[in-house]
Amino acid sequence: MEIVWFKRDLRIHDHAPLATAAAKGPVIPLYILEPELWQQPDMAGRHYDFLAECLGELDRDLTALGQPLVLRIGDAVEILSTLCSVHGVTTIRMHQETWNGWTYNRDRRVRAWARSAGIHIVEEMQFGIHRRMMSRRGWAGKWDAMMAAPIIPAPRSLMPVHVSGDGWPDPCQLGLAGDHCPQRQPGGRQAGLERLSSFLSHRGRAYRFSMSSPVTAPANCSRLSPYLAFGTLSMREVWQAQTRAREEVDQRPAEARRGWTQSLKSFNSRLHWHCHFMQKLEDEPVAEFRPFHPAYHDFDKSHADAGAWLAAWQAGQTGYPLVDACMRHLDATGWLTFRMRAMVMSFAAYHLWLDWRGPALHLARRFTDYEPGIHYSQCQMQSGITGINTIRIYNPIKQSQDQDPDGEFIRAWVPELAAMPDTLIHTPWLKPSTAPDYPPPLVDERRARRAAAAAMFAIRKSGVHAREAAAVVEKHGSRGGRHFVSDRGPGRRISSGHAARNQLELDL
Ligand SMILES: Cc1cc2nc3c(=O)[nH]c(=O)nc-3n(C[C@H](O)[C@H](O)[C@H](O)COP(=O)(O)OP(=O)(O)OC[C@H]3O[C@@H](n4cnc5c(N)ncnc54)[C@H](O)[C@@H]3O)c2cc1C
Repeated sequence: MEIVWFKRDLRIHDHAPLATAAAKGPVIPLYILEPELWQQPDMAGRHYDFLAECLGELDRDLTALGQPLVLRIGDAVEILSTLCSVHGVTTIRMHQETWNGWTYNRDRRVRAWARSAGIHIVEEMQFGIHRRMMSRRGWAGKWDAMMAAPIIPAPRSLMPVHVSGDGWPDPCQLGLAGDHCPQRQPGGRQAGLERLSSFLSHRGRAYRFSMSSPVTAPANCSRLSPYLAFGTLSMREVWQAQTRAREEVDQRPAEARRGWTQSLKSFNSRLHWHCHFMQKLEDEPVAEFRPFHPAYHDFDKSHADAGAWLAAWQAGQTGYPLVDACMRHLDATGWLTFRMRAMVMSFAAYHLWLDWRGPALHLARRFTDYEPGIHYSQCQMQSGITGINTIRIYNPIKQSQDQDPDGEFIRAWVPELAAMPDTLIHTPWLKPSTAPDYPPPLVDERRARRAAAAAMFAIRKSGVHAREAAAVVEKHGSRGGRHFVSDRGPGRRISSGHAARNQLELDL
């Protein structure tokens, strides 16, 4: 008998550990609910609720095969060692996990225990993320090959093993505070498959040109991120579905292709980016806590207003309508489109001059799709502390005018501004009497942006900064190719040498 330990791969399809174990004999399909993990500061009730829905569906799928999911609550080493000794298990199979610092340390403990107990641990890749990688050279080609490999079918059946499990605990038993997220995406595989299918059949046509506006993005982005983060869909099945869609689109007459070709190309790149960013965290697990570039390790941004401004930003009370609408929308839905994520993070890091860690932690708790490898890389990028990316300081007034010109999104999420005339919806402080319940801006946009730019530029000017930046590019930068990640946003390409040069974009 073998154990298959499910982590962030909550599916029976395209699941190498399950398929291999099932082909050999009886399997204990195990999920360990670890109370200590749920007490970490980046974990939230919405993640737990989404997980519960995913596990419910996984249990149904496994039960249909003949053996339900075995849920155990407690410490992974204790649970695994008990199951191994009681059931004579000598092999545990699982997918590699590249997640937060807590799971990284737990995996080290599990491996140390397994070595001492003579238990064989077999880990398989699921995202094309390489362990102990010495260089990024060749990475993209290997990723392409892995995505093109055949999908692994679900086992036909599982032998019943009669192993007891624990009941599902209430979130408050794990110390999780209530987390009201009324418009959260539903968990599970079925919901993910529906979104994949509707995106590739009709929603995705407008993706390329509507992904940035908070008005159009919720309908036209794929919305696959939480399903990829919890592994109810495999990256390979999503990648292969979009490849088939691209081939099918290529056969259509020009008019029927319109929109699709560019949209699917952009989508394909983003799937690649997902794993590119996760590889960064795999290579540098400390990036969750520490900037990639050493020049920012002791970067002190403390100031007297920092605590109050962080709280106002979190509550959607900054006085900048689009920022506040985004933060409130995020509370209620667990999702924001890329550009709005970048804008709220940039506003916190530059205009409010907050250390990146506070806002990053808050966003981690709010994103249902929280994926540390992407999240911390992006939070660092949008705060200008990777040292290798263009400094992009998003102007929240310009973003508001560009991405929500009629104020539709703002009015939906900031009811205090519902009656504001169009001429003032992006700048209500120009006539405060029209929105007495809405706060004045925390900072002067132009002054704060310029001060932040000057401070960041002063750090970047030093020769030491450039030398260290080259080392960061060598370790983490992409190596060109079709999916080159410029880290400057959609559709732009730059060389890694260029990436290391000082650049500023101030008025986005
Ligand atoms: C500050 C910040 C924090 C972020 N944190 C997360 C996070 O915790 N989890 C997460 O999945 N994404 C994160 N992103 C990336 C991106 O915003 C989301 O992946 C995307 O908005 C999810 O919506 P979607 O599934 O509709 O994406 P789509 O636009 O439809 O893209 C398809 C898939 O590609 C991947 N993807 C898209 N954009 C990116 C990107 N810029 N970098 C890496 N992968 C990408 C995701 O897996 C996504 O599901 C973050 C971005 C920023 C700026």
